[in-house]
Amino acid sequence: MTTRRQLLTAIGMMGGTAALYQAMTTMGHASETQYKGAPDLSGARSGASVLVLGSGLAGMLAAYELSKAGYKVRILEYQNRAGGRNWSLYGGDTYTELGGATQKVGFAQGHYLNPGPWRIPHHHRTLLHYCKAFGVALEPFIQFNHSGYVHNADAFGGKPVRYREAAADFEGNVAELLGKAIDQKALDAQLTSEDKDKLKEALRGWGMLDQDMKYKANLFSAEHRGYDRPPGGGVDGAPIASQPFPFRDVVSSQIWKNMAFFMNHEMQTTMFQPVGGMGMIGKAFARQVQTMITFNAKVTKIHQDKAGVTVTYADTASGSVTEATSDYCVCAIPLGVLNQIENNLAPAKKSAIAAVPYSNSVKIGLQMARRFWETDDYIYGGHSFTSQDIALISYPNYHLFEDGPGVLLGAFASGAGAYRLAGMTPEQRIEAALAQGSVFHPGTYRKEFQTGASVAWSRVPWTMGCCARWNEETRKTHYQELVKVDDRVVLAGEHASYVGCWMEGALLSSLDAISRLHKRALEA
Ligand SMILES: Cc1cc2nc3c(=O)[nH]c(=O)nc-3n(C[C@H](O)[C@H](O)[C@H](O)COP(=O)(O)OP(=O)(O)OC[C@H]3O[C@@H](n4cnc5c(N)ncnc54)[C@H](O)[C@@H]3O)c2cc1C
Repeated sequence: MTTRRQLLTAIGMMGGTAALYQAMTTMGHASETQYKGAPDLSGARSGASVLVLGSGLAGMLAAYELSKAGYKVRILEYQNRAGGRNWSLYGGDTYTELGGATQKVGFAQGHYLNPGPWRIPHHHRTLLHYCKAFGVALEPFIQFNHSGYVHNADAFGGKPVRYREAAADFEGNVAELLGKAIDQKALDAQLTSEDKDKLKEALRGWGMLDQDMKYKANLFSAEHRGYDRPPGGGVDGAPIASQPFPFRDVVSSQIWKNMAFFMNHEMQTTMFQPVGGMGMIGKAFARQVQTMITFNAKVTKIHQDKAGVTVTYADTASGSVTEATSDYCVCAIPLGVLNQIENNLAPAKKSAIAAVPYSNSVKIGLQMARRFWETDDYIYGGHSFTSQDIALISYPNYHLFEDGPGVLLGAFASGAGAYRLAGMTPEQRIEAALAQGSVFHPGTYRKEFQTGASVAWSRVPWTMGCCARWNEETRKTHYQELVKVDDRVVLAGEHASYVGCWMEGALLSSLDAISRLHKRALEA
């Protein structure tokens, strides 16, 4: 039996979701990409040169399009590889984080962890365009799986339940309560009697209610939440309905957050991933600009004057310091790092660079000896969510049904949980991931574990954070200053976009930055 208080809580939650969605739309997070094709960079002055700082996707796209237009381009990159946050860790790779801890990755051949980006929405048209142009094979990323688990320490006695069960019960109960509100004439001011009839019919169909507008254990609700005994053949073929959970538990589980998450425009299906790991995109971009890149080049100073731009960089292997000069510069270095690089940019731009904090996140890959989530739990890709620090585990979308190992994402932590995990040694992080992830697969999780790797983004030397975190205030005060062409220098990267923390944002920012820099060059 549902109470009035439960009704109010549920409606409040629905309101909260709507408000959140509206806020996200205002911030631009839920809108379509603005991609309109490659920019027109015709008329470049012969011999005009551009230094691009950083070979993430933003830097490499700038270099690719500018050199196609006739500019003489050179890229300076701190690491010994291109791609930046677009990166996959494979068996044999070594990674050293800030603080000095080094991990040697031990994943089996063909398996990997994507420490950064891992999914591509179908409407990120810039990225999809260049993936096709540069020959990156894409496959579906299984984003939404009704069979994944949801776990909240405050609900269902701390036991995980299937997403489908909790989501069906949330919708069923909300439908029943709304039906009651209609019958009690609470909505008479808003609805005509014809509206009320139509809405009741909709609620019955959407919420799987019976003829009396009740959400109950029966074969109708079982069509959404699943069965105690599924339909079969022969003598025992008749299905047996399952029992809905108490609504109090359903609300406490915060399943609505997961439901709202899947409704977020950026998170909607269809999503994609490159075959062989996200790093394939960085590699494909790098093939287009490889002759332009100087690796192991740590930019330490950016200076511009009437004559041009001078960039000082140190060779990370030898320590030797060199100066490179050009007419123009596209700086695609993340803001936290750029803020520490000596420069003579305009004071307002410097303030903007310093004003934007970065989020943190931690990802942990765990290789399991067998794909028990498939064989034992019938989970093929998708996520299981938890209120613990690891936030979720995500099941691999490749090598489905194979015998042998699989690498699952054992954590995608953010906020306080990410800082707690980042404060641990890599070994302690794996231990925490195993302890917390065991809630979903008790008995098998630890037993099948073979090897793991983790990346805490606050400890990544070349970003010192996950992504730029703008808010309404910083957008208002600093965004236009940040993106403005400052004489000969323009900034590009996900931080210079309204599609923050998406590769699409890095690419859109890059195309916009070089279009304006080109215009500036033509006017010179
Ligand atoms: C955990 C996580 C999850 C994400 N998930 C997704 C996702 O699912 N889908 C998606 O589309 N996006 C996702 N993103 C966001 C995406 O990774 C970024 O938006 C994008 O890769 C940023 O590209 P960029 O070119 O702006 O910066 P970067 O890729 O960071 O490139 C910057 C480059 O500058 C170099 N550099 C730094 N300092 C110096 C220096 N001093 N001198 C020279 N070079 C320097 C760096 O080495 C790097 O190569 C995620 C990011 C993270 C961290």
